[in-house]
Amino acid sequence: MPSVHNWQLGRSMEYPYPEHHPKWQFAFVFNTNRCLACQTCTMSCKSTWTFSRGQEHMWWNNVETKPFGGYPKHWDSNLLSMLDAANPGGQTWDATKTDPTKAPYGTFEGQTIFEAATGQSGPGGPVRALGYLPTPEDWTGPNVFEDHARNPATLPAGTTLPEHKVWFFYLARLCNHCTYAACLASCPRQAIYKRPEDGIVLIDQSRCRGYQRCVEACPYKKAIFRPNTNTSEKCVACYPRIEGKDQELSPNGEPCETRCMTSCPGKIRLQGLVEIGDDGNWVADPSNPLYYLIRERKVALPLYPQFGTEPNGFYIPPRWVPRGYLNQMFGPGVQAAIEQYSCPDRELLSVLQLFRATRQILFRFEIVQGPKVAEIEVTMPDGTKKTQSIWNDTVLGFNRFGKEVVRITTEEPVFERPKNHANSI
Ligand code: SF4
Ligand code: SF4
Repeated sequence: MPSVHNWQLGRSMEYPYPEHHPKWQFAFVFNTNRCLACQTCTMSCKSTWTFSRGQEHMWWNNVETKPFGGYPKHWDSNLLSMLDAANPGGQTWDATKTDPTKAPYGTFEGQTIFEAATGQSGPGGPVRALGYLPTPEDWTGPNVFEDHARNPATLPAGTTLPEHKVWFFYLARLCNHCTYAACLASCPRQAIYKRPEDGIVLIDQSRCRGYQRCVEACPYKKAIFRPNTNTSEKCVACYPRIEGKDQELSPNGEPCETRCMTSCPGKIRLQGLVEIGDDGNWVADPSNPLYYLIRERKVALPLYPQFGTEPNGFYIPPRWVPRGYLNQMFGPGVQAAIEQYSCPDRELLSVLQLFRATRQILFRFEIVQGPKVAEIEVTMPDGTKKTQSIWNDTVLGFNRFGKEVVRITTEEPVFERPKNHANSI
């Protein structure tokens, strides 16, 4: 198999196709600390793309309660168990072997889903990626275990939980439009392709024959089979909006964020495009909000980077969750990300204001400094106290054409309701 470089793993790895990179890459950052599990994102996707017969079980966007929830059921724990069986106890990182461009989190020493499948063959030929086909039962009940910190059925009889030790968090998910997509790698019909202009991964419905190898191989289980058309379908990243072709939203061709991103009341989502160089590296651009959060500050981390697909969805990890669990889910950058997020400096705080400030994709930001307005005491993850200075800076956001489309201050403006309207809404 060809060797490709995976920057999230900090090393080369085997992949069925040689490196070939798009000019721009669809990417997103989710702040898990802010998700309400309101499912507005889920329903906005459902009502746009998957409301027809045969698509009842399709939730291209879903929000699951970790650690027990998942759609399809147990998708991640199932694959983690398979990887551990293939490479017992070996899924480790060397966090000392870092490089700002090629290995920002250190080096992964375990096996990816592609490497763990080496030498395996199935009914349709060689197996390209370790995976499994969920059962019809696994695709039922997308909200099983919603808001459960602990599944009581798994506790031995008479067991009581220690107080204040329970935890859960909401994980919003969609297709990661992976750089080394496992769905694409496994398709025997070459029906899946990655667009050169924006890295969006699509299934050509006219080529698909419903073999479901993509469903089996996608580690995030975001390629889904549709029985009445005998084809697989997946998130299309609302590509007309990304292209600026939604006439109502983009009268002048401005690229806009997807439906699930723009509908988020929790303001957890920021989506955009990052430029990719000919060598596959992200072109250094710290004024792009996504580049800044992911590559410059490393405050947002990939979901299960050890799977090896180089997913392009990134998460600011939840502060209250045990680190062992988070390290398994987001890799070795968790502690540094949470420390920064717990007490952000004035620049990071300004960029965090950009989440859900506009529907247009932001390609650049600028910060205009303002006066200091407060000092607050912050409790850090290790229990120590820190003083955070709050500056009323203004962040400006610019669209693809360099036009200012966002201007927002750190301190929220206060409007006093006139006395004669005191009780009206
Ligand atoms: S998340 Fe799954 S369906 Fe989406 S590109 Fe990656 S491997 Fe393919
Ligand atoms: S709309 Fe936003 S806050 Fe609501 S569930 Fe989705 S990601 Fe979470």
